[in-house]
Amino acid sequence: MIVTGPDLDAPGPTIAFANRAMTALTGYLASELVGQSSGLLLGPGSDRAEARRRKRRLLRDGTYTGQALNYRKDGTSYVADWTITAIPARDGGVRGWLAIQHDETEQRARVEALAGVEARHHAFFEGIPHLVWQSHDGGDWCASSPQWKVFTGQSETASHGAGWREMIDPRDLATTDEAWRLATETGVLAIEHRIRRHDGAYRWFQTRALPVPANAPRGRDRIWIGTSTDVDDLRGAEDRIRHLAFHDVLTDLGNRSLLQDVLSRMTREGPDLLSFNLLFLDVDDFKLVNDQLGHRGGDEVLRGISRRLLGRLRDRDVVVRVGGDEFVLVQANARPEDGWRLAERIRRRMGEPFAIDGKELRVSACIGMASFPNDGLSADQLLRRADLALYSAKTEGGGHVRHFEPPMEFARQERLAMQTGLTRAVERNELTVVYQAVCEPCTGMVHAYEALARWIHPEHGAISPAAFIPVAEESGLIGPIGHWILERACRDATGRAFGSRTVAVNLSPAQFRSGRLLQTVLDALDRTGLAPERLELEVTERLLMDSDEGVDRTLRDIKAAGVRIALDDFGTGYSNLGYLCRFPFDRLKIDQSFVRRMDEDDGARNVVAGIIALAHSLRLRVTAEGVETEEQLAMLRTMGCDQVQGFLLGRPVPASDPGMTR
Ligand code: C2E
Ligand code: MG
Ligand code: MG
Repeated sequence: MIVTGPDLDAPGPTIAFANRAMTALTGYLASELVGQSSGLLLGPGSDRAEARRRKRRLLRDGTYTGQALNYRKDGTSYVADWTITAIPARDGGVRGWLAIQHDETEQRARVEALAGVEARHHAFFEGIPHLVWQSHDGGDWCASSPQWKVFTGQSETASHGAGWREMIDPRDLATTDEAWRLATETGVLAIEHRIRRHDGAYRWFQTRALPVPANAPRGRDRIWIGTSTDVDDLRGAEDRIRHLAFHDVLTDLGNRSLLQDVLSRMTREGPDLLSFNLLFLDVDDFKLVNDQLGHRGGDEVLRGISRRLLGRLRDRDVVVRVGGDEFVLVQANARPEDGWRLAERIRRRMGEPFAIDGKELRVSACIGMASFPNDGLSADQLLRRADLALYSAKTEGGGHVRHFEPPMEFARQERLAMQTGLTRAVERNELTVVYQAVCEPCTGMVHAYEALARWIHPEHGAISPAAFIPVAEESGLIGPIGHWILERACRDATGRAFGSRTVAVNLSPAQFRSGRLLQTVLDALDRTGLAPERLELEVTERLLMDSDEGVDRTLRDIKAAGVRIALDDFGTGYSNLGYLCRFPFDRLKIDQSFVRRMDEDDGARNVVAGIIALAHSLRLRVTAEGVETEEQLAMLRTMGCDQVQGFLLGRPVPASDPGMTR
């Protein structure tokens, strides 16, 4: 407090008195203040114009309150809150002025800090890209940010109370209300729900809220601060990722993971609750489809197949694509006989032609079945057994359906045992070669001998090549075995029994894959001294189906070395006449299945006659295989078949057999 004299017109009213608080605040001694102008307290930052205005107001009103920046003796500043009033004189004039000042610095700092918080809070509330709101307990809203209005089109006041609930997708209202109920107990609100945009579209939001204490009327002692974040895009991406993880991109059917999921769920339900069938389907010769239509066409066929499969299913059934041309169907709540019926329906539907790029194409598929719970209680076992049944169906030929039977399991074990045995067969000299005559049909003269492999197993006796060659192919043993047979046949052919006859050796497609076949052939000829013209190699259509440029080149190189090439078993595979033109074969061998049916089947007879005529027009010589009766031989003669082979003319015999020299 200071007291000054009355003269306000002076440069600064003279201080007449200063109390202790004043000296403490300013740092001046009372003696240093008294007698000085009150302008002493002004400093470089003080607003002198304001000081003059203050003086004028004081004169006019006789009182003044306001703030000013004042300076202490040590030069530091402080904000002073001034209250100045006139001290009345007895004559009604002014005796002097009583000025009371408070140091407002701290208070002002507090206010400024608060204003900062407020501003930040405001910026947060309005600036962040989320919908922000405040609520009392239970979702009784008391504020919403401008973004709420921008997004929903609902005004801030309309959102108050329960107004905001109108913007929640009715499908999510129950869960939203439940979340609020829970939040009251747990102190956290967490929910995902759809909120309606101003244009009526719904988007997914993730809403979170936490309570903060508030000075509010009793019973309403907390305020929830909530944010709602748009997660619609995120959820979309999540859905897409989840979809991709469980679906096949090409057909959009489920994939192997989905199948595992479905099966483990169904097997968990247990045999008391349900039974179902697993159908494992594999398209026959899909490679051929790809060859004919290209990969794009092949993909189109796979999509077509998936549509056809879907069309055969009921609601709870599932179809997935587990591999290139492999599909698995789960027929829910079904007995084994229902599986047969479904398989039959699928087979029929698959048989209908596909029209792709103006081409008409037919495909077939084999199906292997296993039933829960009869054939297995776990997903793995069921899949393995359905696969075994499929394998067995495949060995029967295209379009077959088989249900799992326990012996199939042994068949696989046998194959494994055979594989182990074969590994040692070469070292132990268990392999041998027998020869079957290929004759001229009219004279019966032997032109050539076909080398046929035999495995004389120490326990099981002679094993047919039809049984062990596929195992050798599967296990990679075909390389060394094929090599051995070739060299053995070439060596036998240089023996006296053969004379100058040709020896025919069968090659399997796997032997072409090594890339060393040409060298193997040349080595065999070289080591045995057999003239290349006396060697004929028999390949099947299977080789050409899987073929690439490498196969064509190897065939041409072998032919260029003087060795002849024959197409074996013609008519069993795809009988694609294109193969005949693509490669200049020397000979075509008509499969025994046609020859066998010639006796009673006009169709078979016509086919054989047709093949012979066609081959001749392509300058190919023709051998008929599997001739067992005189009738067959007579027919083949009239058809002009070049050579015949079969039990009628001679069974396969060892090279040492006296019959060889005939
Ligand atoms: P393939 O080359 O068509 O050989 C003819 C098969 O028919 C031989 O069976 C032969 O014994 C049999 N056969 C001949 N005439 C008659 C007949 O009048 N009636 C009947 N029912 N069958 C007759 P095999 O020796 O069991 O050979 C089966 C197949 O195994 C051969 O068919 C050939 O594809 C393959 N094979 C045989 N030896 C070898 C080999 O050394 N290497 C390769 N990669 N495959 C071989
Ligand atoms: Mg053959
Ligand atoms: Mg054959």
